[in-house]
Amino acid sequence: MKQHDAMYIDGSWRPAEGSGTIEVVNPADEQVIATVPAGSARDVDAAVRAARAALPGWAATAPRERAARLAALRDQLAARTEEIAETVTAELGSPLAFSTNVHAGVPLAVCASYAELAGTHAFEEKVGNSTVLHEPVGVVGAITPWNYPLHQIVAKAAPALAAGCTVVLKPAENTPLVAQLFAECVDAAGIPAGVFNLVTGLGPVAGQALAEHEGVDLVSFTGSTAVGKRIGALAGAAVKRVALELGGKSANVILPGADLPKAVAVGVANVMANSGQTCSAWTRMLVHQDRYDEAVELAAAAAAKYVPGERIGPLVSAAQRDRVRGYIERGIAEGARVVAGGPQAPAGPGYYVAPTVLADVTPEMTVAQEEIFGPVLSILKYADEDDAARIANGTVYGLAGAVWAGDDAAAVAFARRLDTGQVDINGGRFNPLAPFGGYKQSGIGRELGPHGLSEYLQTKSLQF
Ligand code: NAD
Repeated sequence: MKQHDAMYIDGSWRPAEGSGTIEVVNPADEQVIATVPAGSARDVDAAVRAARAALPGWAATAPRERAARLAALRDQLAARTEEIAETVTAELGSPLAFSTNVHAGVPLAVCASYAELAGTHAFEEKVGNSTVLHEPVGVVGAITPWNYPLHQIVAKAAPALAAGCTVVLKPAENTPLVAQLFAECVDAAGIPAGVFNLVTGLGPVAGQALAEHEGVDLVSFTGSTAVGKRIGALAGAAVKRVALELGGKSANVILPGADLPKAVAVGVANVMANSGQTCSAWTRMLVHQDRYDEAVELAAAAAAKYVPGERIGPLVSAAQRDRVRGYIERGIAEGARVVAGGPQAPAGPGYYVAPTVLADVTPEMTVAQEEIFGPVLSILKYADEDDAARIANGTVYGLAGAVWAGDDAAAVAFARRLDTGQVDINGGRFNPLAPFGGYKQSGIGRELGPHGLSEYLQTKSLQF
């Protein structure tokens, strides 16, 4: 595999200031496939300085010029789809078809949407006797996780660039190779030096240095709640903008009139996708007590079709595998009933977890409250709609969810009661333009589409 022993700063690949490296492991066979530089605070500083120096020029470009650069970036990503998919499969372990369709396909759609929006967005508006200018926030520090490694980069970098901001990216240590590939695409797209910079490195070192850097105007973070809280506190102390996307425990509410087999099948597929490593996954299935046993049976049968190593990949690391197995054990200890999978590891090598369905889960159990981030579905029982709404809203999170009912109107009426940022109605499709982000502790801010672009803009009002 092609690799860089350098970081992309100020328009060129340069060696890290120190000699530390990070090993990248293929989670399907546990082999080291590459090493990347472990950037230091000094590398971060060099990248932030480059981004600051490039800011006035990029912020002053006409939106149509930024749109043209983003269109060129989209074309680069499109031309390298296969390489992107193979890279994500190698460092994350997802099956190649999923990598092609989702890990390569979704960022392409998102980049394309910002190539379009950069050219059409109203960066100026009239409000009474004022003209309101929507200006770039400045230098963006983007810290991304490994679960949708390219999507999470593009969901921050593309709107930031469209807005006229410059960017320093610190990608997750498990999946830095697709981030390097992205930087190559940025370079080939003719985006000027310093506008986008990449520093690979460890979270507590390079990530922390980026979050703390006084030359950064906005920190956009996706990852764990624990790190998100620290980053939010740092940003608060420095009075700088912050966007946080911190995960969820989303509810898939199946109302009595729904097509149960379809709702269960789609619900199980949603949880098993990407080995359950999806912040918006519907990890709690809520079923009316009269149809509970039927739903459990359907879900167990559906989960059994996810053969590890074929239809479902491993988890990203041994640590994640152990964490997820620990949660399954905790669920059993608290009274949940395993109807598919379980805590035992499938035969190695690879960091696999058996696709698992837990029945008899009650709302206060750990597996009903905490984000597991693995292929584990908890099925809960409700007595009536009020009970369902109370259970669905009864966690600290509120990122996504689904409602299934006999008709869309009934599902929408219930969706209005949910404290969550997105709800799919009767199997509605993913929309790369719809605002994505959380209520409650799922985060602050929105990504994607015009709402995602607004995150990177600040207003200036001129009175006439
Ligand atoms: P993490 O929060 O540690 O890592 C996310 C990013 O933050 C990485 O780039 C990491 O290097 C960086 N980071 C880590 N410590 C940092 C610090 N002190 N300062 C600045 N940046 C720092 O997440 P993880 O350990 O990879 O995963 C743990 C759990 O987080 C998962 O099990 C899951 O529950 C959750 N998670 C959620 C999402 C999501 O999409 N919301 C993504 C990944 C993980």
